[in-house]
Amino acid sequence: MSGFQLQDHRRLVIKVGSSLLIGDDGHVHRGWLEGLADDIGMLCEQQHELLIVSSGAIAIGSTILGINKRRARLEDLQAAAAAGQVQLMHAYQEALARHGITAAQILLTPEDTENRRRFLNARGTLARLIAQSVIPIVNENDTVATEEIRYGDNDRLAARVAQLVMADALILLSDVDGLYTADPGKDASAEHIPEVRTITDAILQMAGETRTDIGSGGMATKVQAARIATHAGCSTVIASGGIDRPLSALAAGGRRTVFRAEGTPAAARKQWLAGVLEVRGELRLDEGAAGALAAGKSLLPVGVVEVIGNFRRGDVVSLVDAAGQELGRGLAEYSSDDAGRLTGCHSEKIEELLGYRGRSVMVHRDELVLFGNER
Ligand code: GLU
Repeated sequence: MSGFQLQDHRRLVIKVGSSLLIGDDGHVHRGWLEGLADDIGMLCEQQHELLIVSSGAIAIGSTILGINKRRARLEDLQAAAAAGQVQLMHAYQEALARHGITAAQILLTPEDTENRRRFLNARGTLARLIAQSVIPIVNENDTVATEEIRYGDNDRLAARVAQLVMADALILLSDVDGLYTADPGKDASAEHIPEVRTITDAILQMAGETRTDIGSGGMATKVQAARIATHAGCSTVIASGGIDRPLSALAAGGRRTVFRAEGTPAAARKQWLAGVLEVRGELRLDEGAAGALAAGKSLLPVGVVEVIGNFRRGDVVSLVDAAGQELGRGLAEYSSDDAGRLTGCHSEKIEELLGYRGRSVMVHRDELVLFGNER
């Protein structure tokens, strides 16, 4: 058995597949969801931070609207998603309320995680919800996503969410208990693999075309999700959700495949930032701000003395001290125009100066990398 302990991972993204959540009647399987909510309540009490990525909107909506999924057109599925998403959220809201937990709906399209400006928006909102112990329930925004601009499956979406919030572990709950050397449905000699240290071509091949549930994902999409998440420093687990309390079972050492994280989420984020080639501008900082950054704090507008270059929110800027030395880089929360207006100002003045309610920081501490830490 691999050494993975759920208890050692504070921030968790749990992906729930349609086949678990939706009963044979095409509606939410309430009994199962209540068991999951019991587990979520338990993990929250143990100070875990949780996010759920849940499928099921299209399946439920198709039932409600009488749409045959196999013959449906894109707009049928989008309409189904719109009707189903409300029911899906309602079911989560009810199940979690029994434990005094508030749920919040987050609908994303790939732009929200791939485009840096929108990435900052989504990250900020999710961080705020997590800080208040609200559980974000995330799904793809299926009503506006079309084939060319979709994540396509919620495994990949869950991996992107894990990367976005710098999660410590991604748990993919489905109707299989992990990766096998071959498709266990077709090959009786297929062996279960408890741990994957590196996702090699051979591993990708094993995942092959195994279908796992009534949703869009198969084993291949799960392994691809694991690849995204592990590169982001997030361990990934494929475990069976087809039991009453799937997360308790996992915590108790139940069968699963663990994909080991490469490093930590913070290190992965910093490596990514350090490697971004197009630096669009420069923020010159006063000594106080340089000291605050070295102490692990965010950069506030008050510490910026000059803004150089032409950049947009979400672009990478270089952070330079009074002597002109580059201290590090980070994602700008403001465009160069707005940053210029905010130079040296206290965060309470932002709305007055810009005419809209902006973020209180110029560069968030999670979105910056310092080159030499000791000052
Ligand atoms: N977003 C889709 C839904 O809620 C599911 C996608 C998937 O199954 O991976 O129905």
